[in-house]
Amino acid sequence: MQYPLPIAKLIESYMKLPGIGQKTATRLAFFTLNMENEDIQDFSKSLVEVKTELHYCSICGNITQADPCEICRDERVDRSTILVVEQPKDILSFENMGEYFGLYHVLNGVLSPMDGVSVDDLNIKSLIKRLQDHSVKEVILALNSSSEGEATAMYLSKLIKPSGIKVSRLASGLAVGSDIEYADDLTLKRAMTGRQEV
Ligand SMILES: [Zn+2]
Repeated sequence: MQYPLPIAKLIESYMKLPGIGQKTATRLAFFTLNMENEDIQDFSKSLVEVKTELHYCSICGNITQADPCEICRDERVDRSTILVVEQPKDILSFENMGEYFGLYHVLNGVLSPMDGVSVDDLNIKSLIKRLQDHSVKEVILALNSSSEGEATAMYLSKLIKPSGIKVSRLASGLAVGSDIEYADDLTLKRAMTGRQEV
């Protein structure tokens, strides 16, 4: 027996999400079927709006409704430091920590030859371009401590250092392979204050 088409299609959609197999997708699809109409409307609206209303900031690569993003537009931001992160969601971790007041740059991943991610796939050119206006004195690399993160940090520091800009990395308070988004505020604060020049 096959499921009616709308359910089968919904199961297929859920299976496109990371970490969701057929069993979970089926459970979610039947759960969705029993949700209140209003919740379903909200849910489907959010799914559409997340694509239609959000853009990447043309300066830093953050996700934003208005371009440039709020942080790039904010005149109170310290324009002498750029914190380089892998994903837009990492920015939130640092903003919530409340002790960093500079600019950000989202790479949108890390170098990973195995997955076919090369220099041109990341927002590296736009980072180098931002460094040319001489107001930036320090670039802080806040990449995850995976081997790809390490390799990317190495690549960036070699690329940036000849320009005389200080390049530092977060202190290794973060466990190897751990994601910045899962680090608590205290761990992030320690990693930030203990950052070391590379
Ligand atoms: Zn921005």
